[in-house]
Amino acid sequence: MTGAHYISVILPLKLEWEPCYALPDGTDPGQVGRGDRVKVMFANREYSGVISATGITPDTDPGKIKPILYLEKDMEKIFPEEIELWRKVADYYLCTVGEVYKAAYPYGKINLEEARAAAKSKVRERREKLLESIRGKISRLEVRLEKKKALLAKARKKSVKEGYAEDISEIEAEIGRAREALEAAGRSGLNGTDDNSSIDAPGITLSDAQNKAYSATQAGFKARKPVLLHGVTGSGKTEIYMKLAHNALSRNRNVLYLVPEIALSRQLEDRLYEYFGERLMVFHSAESAASKRNVAERIRTSSEGYIVLGTRSSLFLPHHDLGLIIVDEEHDNSYKQDSPAPRYNGRDTALILHQIHGCDIILGSATPSLEELYNCQAGRHVLVELKERYHGSESSDIEIIDTKAERRKRGMNGNFSRKLIDHMNRALEQGGQIMILRSRRAWAPVMQCDSCGEIVKCPHCNVSLSYHKDGRMVCHYCGHSDRYTGGCSKCTGTLISLGAGTQKIEEEAAALFPKARIARLDSDTAQNKAFETKTIEGFAKGEIDILIGTQIVTKGFDFSNLTLVAVIAADALLGMQDFRADEKAFQLLEQFRGRCGRRDRKGLFVIQTSQPEHPVYKKIADNEPAGLNAGLMQERKDFNFPPFSRIVEIIVKDTYEDRAERMAQRLGRTLRNIFDPDGSPVLGSPVTGPYPPVVSKIADQHIRTIRISLKKDRNLSTGKKAIKEAVRDFEKSQKYDGHIMINVDPS
Ligand code: ADP
Ligand code: ZN
Repeated sequence: MTGAHYISVILPLKLEWEPCYALPDGTDPGQVGRGDRVKVMFANREYSGVISATGITPDTDPGKIKPILYLEKDMEKIFPEEIELWRKVADYYLCTVGEVYKAAYPYGKINLEEARAAAKSKVRERREKLLESIRGKISRLEVRLEKKKALLAKARKKSVKEGYAEDISEIEAEIGRAREALEAAGRSGLNGTDDNSSIDAPGITLSDAQNKAYSATQAGFKARKPVLLHGVTGSGKTEIYMKLAHNALSRNRNVLYLVPEIALSRQLEDRLYEYFGERLMVFHSAESAASKRNVAERIRTSSEGYIVLGTRSSLFLPHHDLGLIIVDEEHDNSYKQDSPAPRYNGRDTALILHQIHGCDIILGSATPSLEELYNCQAGRHVLVELKERYHGSESSDIEIIDTKAERRKRGMNGNFSRKLIDHMNRALEQGGQIMILRSRRAWAPVMQCDSCGEIVKCPHCNVSLSYHKDGRMVCHYCGHSDRYTGGCSKCTGTLISLGAGTQKIEEEAAALFPKARIARLDSDTAQNKAFETKTIEGFAKGEIDILIGTQIVTKGFDFSNLTLVAVIAADALLGMQDFRADEKAFQLLEQFRGRCGRRDRKGLFVIQTSQPEHPVYKKIADNEPAGLNAGLMQERKDFNFPPFSRIVEIIVKDTYEDRAERMAQRLGRTLRNIFDPDGSPVLGSPVTGPYPPVVSKIADQHIRTIRISLKKDRNLSTGKKAIKEAVRDFEKSQKYDGHIMINVDPS
C-alpha cells in the first residue's frame, strides 16, 4: 500500500497505547490534523477517538493496519492544550490518557440548536432569579427592621436602646442599597427581553487590608508564582477574586473559577452573575448533558471573554486564552475524585493547567491545606494573608462543653447539654438563628441487640445499618435497606439504639424548643434538590429558627442573622484513623465557626465533646491555627507523611475475601521487593500493608490497601512509573485484571 497515511488515535479506554489507523485512500492528509475526531473499530466495537499524531510510521506490518471508519467532521476539534492536560494528568495520576479523555468528553455530539435553546432559557431564568433575590433581600431586611423597632420600643435600658438604634439605621441603609441595586438591574435591561444586553459591572472598592492582599497577589503573579490567599472567613476573598477576574477579562483573558461543590455555591453564583452578567457560565456534573455541551461549545468558540464557575470537571473544558484560575476553598477534600480514574485532585490539576497555559492562579482558603502551606514555605508559592473581617466583626466566642462532666452533674438533657439549651434559648429570644452540626445522619447510626450484643450489619458491607425514622435500617455505603422489626435476627432479644443521628437530634430539639421552627439538612433530605434549596432559602429568609444538619451546613452559606452555631458529639470528627484526621477536623470546625456572627455582631460557637482536652479544640479556642499547623507539619515530617512524601495507594477489590487477601499479600511482596527489599512492614517504611481499611467490604467487594510512600526527590517520577509497571505486570502474570486500582495522593 503505497502512499497510505497513518495516524495514532486516543480511545476512551483504559489502554496503555494509542492504536494506529490508516486514513482512507483519497483522503488529503493536509485536511486531517491532531485533535480531529475519528470513528474507528477497536476490539469489535466502534469508538470516537481523537487523533494524537499524523504521518506516523507504523511499527507493525502496515498491511495489518485497519483504516478508520470515517472522519467525524461534525464533531468538535480538540485543542492541543487539552491533549497536553490529559497526558500530564495520566502521567501524574498513573492512569491512561484514554481514561482522562473519557472523563473530559462523557457526552456525544453537540447539537448546536438544542444547546442554544438551552442557553436562552437559562439566561431568562437567571435574570428572573436575580431580580427575585434582590426583592427577597429587601423584604427580609424589612422584617428584621420591624423586629428591631419592636425590640427598641420594649427596651428599658438606655444602652440597649442605643444599640438597637444603631442596628436600625444600619438596616435602613442596607435596604437603601438593595433598592438601588434593584433599580440598576432594571435599568440595565434585565427586565427586558433582549438576551444580548449585558450588565455594567459596578466598581469594586477594596478595603485597605484587601488592597494590600490584592497588591501582594499581583506581585506574586508578576513573579510567575501561584498565590495562596489565606483569609479568614468574611475577610472578603471573593471580592478580591472578582477584581482579579475582572482584570483578566479586561485584558481579553478568560477565567476559570473552581469550587469544591456547586450545590453550596448558589449564593456565589448569584453574586458573580450580578457582576459578570452573561459572561458567567456554570458547569458541574449535575447539569444536563445539553447544558454541559452548550457551555463547552460557548467556551470553545468564545471570543468575548468568559468566566466559568465550576467543579473539578470544568478543568477539562476546551479552555483557551486562559488568564486566571481561582481555586476557592483549596483545602476541601471534595476536590479529589476517588473513583473512577482519573483519581485526580482539582486543586493540583489546576496547577497543571496553569503551567500549560502560563496563566495566573490563586488558591484561597480560611484553613489552607498543609500541602499548600508547605509549598509557600518552600518558596514555590506566595503566601498572602488577610486577617481582618471585612465588616470588622470579631470572630465568634467559643465555648467547649465537656459532655462527660455534664452527664455526671446531670447537666445533659438527651444529647443537649443544659448549657447549650440556655444559649439556644437566649439566641432565640434575641431573634437570632441557630445551626447545629451532627456528623451522622439517620435517627441512630448503630442498632444493637440488648440480649446477645449483636450489632446489626449490612449483608453487603462491613458497616452497621443505621435506623431511619421511616422504619427502615439503611446502609450508608451501598444503600441496602431492611424493614425494622425491632427484634434481633440472631436471638429473641430486642434492638436498642446506640448514638444519635440528625433525625433524633431534630426530634429532641423539637421537644426542647416547641415554639421554634426547625428544619434538617443532610444527604437524606438534600437528595431532593428542591427541598434543599427551599430549606436554605427559608433559613436565609428567617423562616427557620434552627437548622440541624451534617457537614453540608458547614459550607458556603452566608446568613447574616446566624448568631449561634453548635456541634453535637464533635468526637465523631476526630475518630478517623487517618493522618489527616486532625487537619480535617480543624478545617471543618473553623469553617463552621465562620458561618456565624458575620456582620454586626459577635457570634457564639459551642462544641459539645467528651474529649475537651483534644489539641484541635484547644487551638480553635486559642485562635491559633498557625500553632496547630506548625504542630501538624512537624508530625508529618517526623512520620514522613505528605507533604514530605508522596503516597500512592494500591486498592485490591474482590468478591472473595480469601482471594483479595492472597493477591494483596502477593502484590505487597512484589512492591516491597522493589521499594523496600530489606525492610519490614512497619509504620514509616516505604511500603505498608496490605491492610483491610476501616470499612473493609463495600457492596460485596472485599478491600485491601497497600500504601507506598515515595520520597519527593528526583527519583519520584521513576518510582511512580515503577509502581504502575509492577501493577500492570502483576495483573498480567496473575491474570487478575480489573481488581486493582491505583490512587495517587489519596485524601
Ligand atoms: P470570604 O470569601 O473571605 O469569606 P466574602 O468575600 O464572602 O468573604 O465577604 C464577606 C462579606 O463582606 C460579604 O457579604 C461581602 O459582600 C462583603 N465584602 C467584602 N469585601 C467587600 C468590599 N470590598 N466591598 C463591599 N463589600 C464587601
Ligand atoms: Zn451496604
